[in-house]
Amino acid sequence: MKKFHFTLLNLFLFTPFIYAQNAIDKGLETINKRSVEAHLSFLASDALEGRKAGTNNARVAAEYIKAVLSEAGIQAFFDSYFQAFEAYSPVREKRVEFQVNADSIALYKQERAYRRLSLQNVVGYIEGQKKDEYVVIGAHYDHEGIDELLVGDQIYNGADDNASSVAAVLQVAKAIVTSGEKPLRTIIFAFWDGEEVNYLGSEYFVENFKPLQAIKAYINLDMVGREGGVLPIFHPKFRVPENARQALRKENKWTHILYSEKLAKVKDLLLEDIEKYRLGITPKLDIIPPKSHGSDNLSFSLRDIPEVWFFTGLHPDYHTPWDEVETINFDNLTGITKATYLVLWDLANE
Ligand SMILES: [Zn+2]
Repeated sequence: MKKFHFTLLNLFLFTPFIYAQNAIDKGLETINKRSVEAHLSFLASDALEGRKAGTNNARVAAEYIKAVLSEAGIQAFFDSYFQAFEAYSPVREKRVEFQVNADSIALYKQERAYRRLSLQNVVGYIEGQKKDEYVVIGAHYDHEGIDELLVGDQIYNGADDNASSVAAVLQVAKAIVTSGEKPLRTIIFAFWDGEEVNYLGSEYFVENFKPLQAIKAYINLDMVGREGGVLPIFHPKFRVPENARQALRKENKWTHILYSEKLAKVKDLLLEDIEKYRLGITPKLDIIPPKSHGSDNLSFSLRDIPEVWFFTGLHPDYHTPWDEVETINFDNLTGITKATYLVLWDLANE
């Protein structure tokens, strides 16, 4: 009888955890190198000519993301998967950045001429038990396009920046669906346009999201295809010889995980998971200073939304036509994709 009681108690106490563990593993198993490679190779192929914001190539990338989300069973967050918007810049100063801020746009429109970019975020979601609490995970899909004045390779493929992250988030989305468990919080999967212009997509999304306090955390992925290491961005005048570039690529293998102080507990869970699941990545941890720049995380950190940001560091191929598929470390990227899935799981369910 005593034993019976113990077993019942055991069942009562631990069954939910066992189910959750099974669900986590089920999702995790769907993340694999081949899929990461397939998504990334398409997005960073020459055929997409560098996915410059506002071009047809970026639209093709957006259609691809939409197709993958839809196939995985992720619903459109808005009326469609696309959140279309426009960005403006004034005519006089060519170097003034494009803006999505309504006041800036009104000001520019008083001019006789202004520039306009038509852009679109791709946004899907999985409804949680709590419909009014959100965790957002995002990666920008646009890059630098082509430069017709370049002699030789003119395409900025943006394999690391940022096809790597799009490939990761697409797989994470599928993994969450496959887990079969409804998350506690609603998860939004966002693919930003216009990051390379001025963080436009994430800024537009956040500026128009109501109520903003409903977003409990943001996970940002930008440039997760390399192996880490703070490498100098060399001036084109001082080009690094190919053998030196190769050597630099192999050094300093780590993954930068930046996090807001508020999410320290989630960071600890992630470190445990990296060990437990043998993800094969070497985390390098840092607290994100408030209002820190660098990627779409800015749009969220400006509004004090806590965040986690995965990043494998700058390198000499950054924003050059050498940011190609062949330079991607797919094993590392697969590990980061799994880590992202696990941290998203915690943020959505803790
Ligand atoms: Zn970039």
